[in-house]
This record gives sequence, structure tokens and C-alpha cells, in this order.
Amino acid sequence: MKVHEYQAKELLKNAGVAVPEGIVVTTPAEAALAYKSLGGGLIVVKAQVHAGGRGKGVAIGPDDDRNLALEIASGRKPRPESMAKGVQLVKSAEEALKAAASLLGKTLVTYQTGPQGSPISKVLVTVGHDIVRELYLGMAVDRALQCPVVMASTEGGVEIETVALKNPEKILRVPIDVGLGLADFQARKICKALGLTGEKARKGATFFKNFVKLFIDTDASLGEINPLIVTAGGDVLALDCKLNFDDNALFRHPDIAAFLDAAEEDPAELRASKNGLSYVSLDGDIACLVNGAGLAMSTMDLIKYHGGEPANFLDVGGGANKDQVLEGFRILLSEPRIKAVLVNIFGGIMKCDTIAAALLAAYDELDFRVPLVVRLEGTNVELGKKLIKESGRKIVTADGLTDAAKKVVAAAKGAA
Ligand code: GDP
Ligand code: MN
Repeated sequence: MKVHEYQAKELLKNAGVAVPEGIVVTTPAEAALAYKSLGGGLIVVKAQVHAGGRGKGVAIGPDDDRNLALEIASGRKPRPESMAKGVQLVKSAEEALKAAASLLGKTLVTYQTGPQGSPISKVLVTVGHDIVRELYLGMAVDRALQCPVVMASTEGGVEIETVALKNPEKILRVPIDVGLGLADFQARKICKALGLTGEKARKGATFFKNFVKLFIDTDASLGEINPLIVTAGGDVLALDCKLNFDDNALFRHPDIAAFLDAAEEDPAELRASKNGLSYVSLDGDIACLVNGAGLAMSTMDLIKYHGGEPANFLDVGGGANKDQVLEGFRILLSEPRIKAVLVNIFGGIMKCDTIAAALLAAYDELDFRVPLVVRLEGTNVELGKKLIKESGRKIVTADGLTDAAKKVVAAAKGAA
């Protein structure tokens, strides 16, 4: 799960990681008030969306050209005066009000959002700082090392992917023992790599240690502070912050789960998670309903292997009862791009004839506008297939995964 910058900064602040003061608002008038209560001077107004590249991003209205906006946000075309940036520096309450008005209710297009953009319903009004140095600090889980790693670089304020590609030697990687957190010698190593000495090194070490502790304690999967800045006053601050959390660990963190912003989530994915289904939207046109994550992965592979494009990953879990199948089908059929549905279920504890009965009941309750191919395997498979064949419904049964994949790809092409 992703959270907004203002939410990430709240977590940082509570964990003892230095962030600029800020107030999140939903109206331009509130932005003007926030400007004053933050003490005036240089203030930054920032669109809150789950995407990076906001500084170069473009706020557009319903009638603006989204593809042009993406060209501008990606730096391929010049920005016209009329198009507001996602991050704006202001010097008066009046300017804060105008900046907020140029963002709220609009859609922000950045190189990360694609042309559809993300809706802006909140802006963060935050104290601006004179930047002496822009650094980078990130954390991710390294699957090869089997632990989180801290990434630190002097190349802040630019995309870290570019640094990794062109100057990989400029990124220091520090593996973290989750039982110990960031050790003193590791904190010193990061300070050295970032050129932080004296008082700044002391502040940096506290910052890094607390950030690593927060990452571990919250079951975060990705953390990025870009830029991490050194101010004229010698402070080390997180000017920006992105945090992602492991969905499977959210039950341990109700405070973070409450940060969910439904407007930023895929509606089908949201609906699935509410029903205990594991669902990921993809771009293809063949929907899959499968029990078990491994089986779902191989089903998607086979569809691709036989020339089709999967529209989703849907794991209904080991049980696959009627309610889950029904809700799964509803979610699949709500996607207009679907041209065929493949059900691939292995009946273990749940017998194939029980599953077949659930499928038929679900089929009758729903308006199946596309071909349905079913492959069952496991306990009582013959009985299950017989039930479907003799039901008289327009359901194609398949023998084995290859047959199923071929049939559903053909069905989708026929429907196209
Ligand atoms: P992003 O574009 O989505 O990564 O948003 P950021 O929060 O990183 O802000 C984008 C850019 O705005 C930063 O890289 C800075 O150049 C600029 N910026 C943001 N806050 C401040 C500030 O307090 N002072 C100054 N001088 N620039 C800022
Ligand atoms: Mn940033």
C-alpha cells in the first residue's frame, strides 16, 4: 500500500526523523491560513498524489490534453504558463491561495502517473528551506540479500534510476540486520559517503537510525527520501518522502491501514481486497479466476505462451466457495475490456463437483457476456466435468492447462 507524502511525513516525525513543518489542506482558503500559521516567508504548496515527479508534473482540468501534459511532465515539451506545477514555492498568503487553487480539484499528470494522472484532493502546505545540498536516501527489500538495504547517494533531487544506470558507483548500499537496525558504524559510513561531518553527521546519524527503525517497525517495503537536504542552518531534513507498506502486514498496523486513499486505488482491486480475494489488474483481455497464487501465476504464463494477454491475477484462495466465485466473477465482468474468462481450479479439500455446482450457480446469477472456459482438476474431477457438460450452459470445459489456455485464447480472439 502506498501513502501520501503528508502521511509519510507524519510517520517520520513521530519516529524522530526530521521533516519540515507542514499542514495538509483541502481548500485554497485553508492554504492561505496555513501559510500564516506556518510563520510566512518561503512556503511550499505540494499536490498530494501517490506518484513521484510532481515538481515537473502538470495539473490539468477535464478539457486539457492528457497526452500533451505527459509530454510536458516528462520534459519532452515546454510548459505553457497556464499549466501549474505539482510543487510550487510561494512567498505570500495570496500566492499560497492561488497555488492551492491551481491544484485542488485538478488532475496531476507526472511521468509516473501516465496520461490518466491522479486526482488532487489535498495539498500539503509546508515550510520552505534554503537548500545547501540535495542528497538521496532510500530503503528497499533486497531479495538476493534477503534483507532490507539502505541506499544513499550524493545525487539527490534527480531520479535514482538514472543515477543507478549512469553512475552506479555513486550509490552506497548498506544491508540491514532487521534484528539490530542500523548499527553505529553503518550510520557513520553513510555520513561519510554523503559528506556529512561534525554536527551534521550527528544529526544525520540520528536521522538514518530512526528512519531504518521506522521502516522495520512498520513493515515497509519501500522508502524514499528524495531529496534529503542540508539547510543553510545545518539541519538535515526530509524534504520529500515516499513510503510503501507490505499489504500482508497491514493487519499489524491499523494506523497505517487507515491512511488508505480509495481515490488512488484501482476500484476492482479495492473491492477484491474487501472480499478477501487477492486481485491485481493487468492490461490484457483474458480474465482468470484461479485458486492458489502459484496456479494463478502459471495460468497467466500459459495464456501468454499461447498468444493471449491476461487481464488480471485473481486468487480466490484454497476454498473457492460459491460466494467467492460469485464476487470474483462480478469483479472480472465489471472490466469492460474482458473478452473471455478462464476458470482454473484445483479441487483438493474442496471437491471438484462442489466447485462445479458453485460455478453453475454463479453463472446463472450473472449475465455472462463473454465466453467462459473451465478447467477443473483434482478430487472428483470427472463428476465435476460431467455436471458442467450436462448443465446445458454455454461453458467450454478443458482437459489440462494447455488445452484450457488454447481454448480461452481462441475464444477471446473470436469475441474480438
Ligand atoms: P517530487 O517532484 O514529487 O519528487 O516532489 P519533491 O517534494 O521532491 O519536490 C520537488 C522539488 O521541489 C524538489 O526537488 C525541490 O527542488 C523543490 N522544493 C521542494 N521543497 C522545497 C523547499 O523547501 N525549498 C526549495 N528551495 N525547493 C524546494
Ligand atoms: Mn521528490
